[in-house]
Formats: sequence, structure tokens, C-alpha cells
Amino acid sequence: MKIKQYDVVVCGAGIAGVAAAVSAARQGAKTALIEKQCLLGGLATSGLIYIYLPLCDGYGNQMIHGISEEMLKRCVDYGPFDVPEQWGGPKGGNPGCIEAKNGRYACCFSPAGFSLVLDKMLAEAGVDLWLDTVMIEVEKNGNAVSAITVFNASGKVKIAGKCFVDATGGAHAVQLAGGKIHRTENRITPWVMEMAEDSSFFHFTGELHIQGALKSFVSDSLESSTGAPICADCSSGKAVTDFVRCAWQLMRGRYDAATKPQTKRKTYPVHLPAMPQLRKIGCIDALKILKYEDRDQRFEDSIGLVGDWRKPAPVWDTPYRTLVPRDVENILAAGRCIGTLEEAWEVYRVIPVAAMTGEAAGVAATLCAEQNVIPSKLDIKNLQKTLSVIRKNKQ
Ligand SMILES: Cc1cc2nc3c(=O)[nH]c(=O)nc-3n(C[C@H](O)[C@H](O)[C@H](O)COP(=O)(O)OP(=O)(O)OC[C@H]3O[C@@H](n4cnc5c(N)ncnc54)[C@H](O)[C@@H]3O)c2cc1C
Repeated sequence: MKIKQYDVVVCGAGIAGVAAAVSAARQGAKTALIEKQCLLGGLATSGLIYIYLPLCDGYGNQMIHGISEEMLKRCVDYGPFDVPEQWGGPKGGNPGCIEAKNGRYACCFSPAGFSLVLDKMLAEAGVDLWLDTVMIEVEKNGNAVSAITVFNASGKVKIAGKCFVDATGGAHAVQLAGGKIHRTENRITPWVMEMAEDSSFFHFTGELHIQGALKSFVSDSLESSTGAPICADCSSGKAVTDFVRCAWQLMRGRYDAATKPQTKRKTYPVHLPAMPQLRKIGCIDALKILKYEDRDQRFEDSIGLVGDWRKPAPVWDTPYRTLVPRDVENILAAGRCIGTLEEAWEVYRVIPVAAMTGEAAGVAATLCAEQNVIPSKLDIKNLQKTLSVIRKNKQ
């Protein structure tokens, strides 16, 4: 089997993985980014998400800086939207989403346009991107991850690294390494890009829009008619398949000629989500797991503050320990698979926060590679200093 060697290896090119890889490469690490799809941005783009949720606390204070702010400002480059005027966007610009109109630091984006922007960021930083490449195995030396095996058109390739980042959205690398994973249930909420004269959800241009889970999508009799679950913890391949097919059935209900002959002529699907629209798949058993009672607490090992995207509310501080698995060494988590549960998982699973934790994981992995230390032994003060310099330079 061919072997490739890097300083930092990032698994998964969602928002967190791109942020981690760009941050590591900008710090000088020879960086690989592994992605099983042929799109960048993960759920945020191939899941047809279109709102870059707020960077602020809801009271006018910016909480998240650095690469997350850079991504927000650039995600509008290939789309019809702008960053809000009060946060530096053009006067009279169109930020798209309700959050921004309410004065929060947020905006809308075209999923396809955002994917093109992310590719530009990776190319500018010099990241070695592996598309259409699935990670299938994780190799350890003792309890420390030392290599992953991927499969692509070349066959199986071993990718060795000095330090690893799991940005797979479901902690799949840590799971393959034998680490413990926490899971939870997901409610089904199908989103589809469609063409329709009359729609109620989100317009791109004229009749092209994204249609979300309306009441008309969701039928009470669904569970009994298909046998598929309306909620699933997705801890098996079968459960994920059922979850996605259940969403498709709901979508068909909307377009079904027999039930809606008058809308069939005008309304039809254009693009389906290419990833299961699961909000939470799995998270690591981290050295610190954030829960509801941790909001408004300060932590010595903070890597960044986060606002609650749902409402103006107490701020969350993010301990570095949420990125570090308790039971596997030499790998950090980033994005929606870091150590958060309950309310904290809700706050931390969204795009701006995934970018913030991705940036921290990428910088931490680079420092670990440079200093030949495992993440649990990293000098936190040095990490905090490096992050602070990077984030100040980006303001
Ligand atoms: C219905 C719904 C609506 C949402 N709405 C919003 C919203 O409006 N605004 C917002 O900010 N957030 C929203 N979110 C949440 C947000 O989109 C995601 O949680 C966030 O983008 C997660 O980013 P991530 O990088 O952590 O993970 P992911 O996006 O899951 O990225 C993980 C990447 O890893 C890849 N991968 C996984 N396994 C492997 C493997 N074995 N080998 C190679 N690659 C692999 C995947 O293909 C993927 O590209 C929504 C989520 C859902 C489900």
C-alpha cells in the first residue's frame, strides 16, 4: 500500500475541517484534508443549508472572530447576498436571513457558491485536498493515532501524520480508533431545493428556493405507513438509510400528482440534500463535556466564546478540553463532534461555531506536530496566544 506523510491530517471537509486545514496550513504545517464527497462544506453546503448563523451574542457584541468571521464575509462571494451593513457590509445590501435583519451578525449564502469559496481558501493556504476519498481505517501506535487508511480511485492509501483532526461531523475517526461516542436522537426535517411559483420558505432568485420542513411535509401517519422512524439516533447504517428515505417519502408527498394535481405543473424538486439532514450524529467522550450548567462559566483553557444562535442569551466559553478525546491520543475533534451534550450541543453544532472550533483544532494540531506532544499535554497558554494573534490579525 502507498504511504503518504503529513504534519497534520484532517478528516472531513465540512466547515470545521476546512477551518482546521486552512488554519494548520497557514501556520506552516504540511496538511492533508480528506473528504468522501466531491463538495466542500459538508452539511452546510451539501445539506442545502443557507444561513450563516450569528457571530454575536444577540446584544450587539461580536463573540466569534478569526476564520469564522472570514468565512462569513467570504461566503457571500458567489451568491445574491451581502453581509449586514452594521457589521461592515454594503449600504442597502441584502443579508437575506431574518437573524441579520434583526441586527445579529449573520447572513445567507448560496450553498454551491460557498463550496467554491472554501476551495479557494484551501488553495490559497496550500492544503493538500483529497476529494472522493473515504477514510476507512485508523491505525494506532499504542493508544495514539498514527495513520489512517483511505480508499479512492487509486485503491487503498495509508496517510500517516504527526497529529490528526476528526472533523467528520460524527466523530467517525475517533470511533474507528476505538474511542467512546455519545449519540442522541434526531427529528426528521427535510429540506429540498425546488422550483415553484408560490413558496413559503427561502428564495434565492424568483422561483428557485429552498423549501423547508413545512407542516404539509410531515404526516402523522408516516411512521406506520413506512415503518421508518421519524426520530433516529443513527447509530447504525440501516437507521441512517431509513432516516433519509423517510425524508424522501415526505418530499414525494409534496410533489405527488395524485394528491396535488394543481401544484405538480408548477412545483418540482431541483436538488436533494446529498447528506442526511441529521443535526447531531455523535460526539467524542472529551476531557470536558459541556452541558447546560456550563453556560456563562469561564474556563482557564478557553479557546473562544460563543453566543446562542437561537436568542440573545448568556455566552458560552469553550474549554480546549472539549476537543480532546478522553480515551484516544494524538487526535482532536472539531465542529459538531466535539464534547458537548444537551443544550450545549444545540449551541455548538452550527456553522460559525464549527469554524471557530475547527480553527482552534487546526492550530493545536500544528503545535502538537511541531513540538512532538500529544494534544492532552499541549501548552494551553501557547495555544491561546497563537489563536489570539491570528484572530486579531483577521479583524
Ligand atoms: C436541517 C438542518 C438545518 C440546519 N440549519 C443550519 C443553519 O441554518 N445555520 C447553521 O449555521 N447551521 C445549520 N445547521 C447545522 C450545520 O449545518 C452543521 O451542523 C455544520 O455545518 C456542521 O459542520 P461540521 O464541519 O462540524 O460537520 P459536517 O458538515 O458534517 O462535515 C463533516 C464532513 O466529513 C465528511 N466525512 C464524514 N465521514 C468521512 C469519512 N469516513 N471519510 C471522508 N470524509 C468523511 C463528510 O462528508 C462531511 O463533508 C443545520 C443542520 C440541519 C440538519
